[in-house]
Amino acid sequence: MENKAEISKLLSSPKDVVIFSHRNPDGDALGSSLALCHYLTGIHHSVKIIFPSEYPIIFTWMPGSDKVLVYDLSPNECIAAIKQANLIFCLDFSSLDRIDKMGEFVNQQTCPKIIIDHHLDPEPFADYIISDTSASSTCEMIFDFISDLHGKEKITEEIAACIYTGIVTDTGSFKYSTSPAVFRKVADLLEAGVNDVLLQNLIHNRLQEKYLRLLGYCLYEKMEIMPEVKTGLISLSREDYIKFDIQRGDTEGIVNYLLMLENVDIAALITEQPTIVKLSLRSKGDISVQEICRDHFKGGGHKNASGGAVYGTLSQTVKKFKEVIPKYFKPNLSNISK
Ligand code: 5GP
Ligand code: MN
Repeated sequence: MENKAEISKLLSSPKDVVIFSHRNPDGDALGSSLALCHYLTGIHHSVKIIFPSEYPIIFTWMPGSDKVLVYDLSPNECIAAIKQANLIFCLDFSSLDRIDKMGEFVNQQTCPKIIIDHHLDPEPFADYIISDTSASSTCEMIFDFISDLHGKEKITEEIAACIYTGIVTDTGSFKYSTSPAVFRKVADLLEAGVNDVLLQNLIHNRLQEKYLRLLGYCLYEKMEIMPEVKTGLISLSREDYIKFDIQRGDTEGIVNYLLMLENVDIAALITEQPTIVKLSLRSKGDISVQEICRDHFKGGGHKNASGGAVYGTLSQTVKKFKEVIPKYFKPNLSNISK
């Protein structure tokens, strides 16, 4: 790790640490934040985790998740914690707009800030930027961070469970963004006590009935295929949200079903939220949905998984998406082999 000596020095005396992660926190956001929190608490720091919005209830089993502060629910408590902080970590994001209104408070804070993230194009708002766009997940980077500073022995069973969760969710259960290194680290996590079958069940096999009904509706009624540009699209309106009682996290994973089709290289889930329309894009092989999100939808992420948003109506957004897609379509791409 670059700056290891300086970061070690920062951590050598007790600090009031705040760990941030991005809005709509996923398994990697939550896993990396909790893993780092357990590690820092174990070396005598006082730690608070703050998310802009709530995390999906499927993650409530994760150790320490009950103590996370959510800005949407308790803004004053969050602001007080930020003011008190003398060390800030930003995990699994690297542009301040991903933490909404808190971005401004964080920018104003003069204490040292450390980004640990695997997204493309990090913004230079922190004193230390630990960025690895080839990492499977921020959780994998937290594994390296702890190992580098204190050795793998510091990864307790509790920390290992949090790290495992982020790796599983960000690799689609080891389907993409994998490497020999990540499998070695997962072997270490199992040796640290992770029960992988139990955790896979906790993460994936506790859905509510309404999720599968929503998925069925999306695939049967709402799926649109644009064969000429090898693109699949599902859009959900506010009425759909009411009809299926869709809560935060309920649409997670739906976009990936489109990529299962042989004739789809670009997949989109476009959802009407209270104030914005959100896009969730995926691609196969050498098509960069990060460029699409960055150039047209004020977003970003990874080459094959990105998101963005539009202030506008659902139909305007769908129309815009359909207009920009042909520019990114690659007719002769043999994606499956990549
Ligand atoms: P998802 O489609 O699952 O919401 O997000 C896919 C990836 O894109 C994630 O890595 C996520 O962090 C990133 N992402 C999602 N929405 C946004 C956004 O609005 N802005 C940026 N910069 N990244 C996003
Ligand atoms: Mn991630």
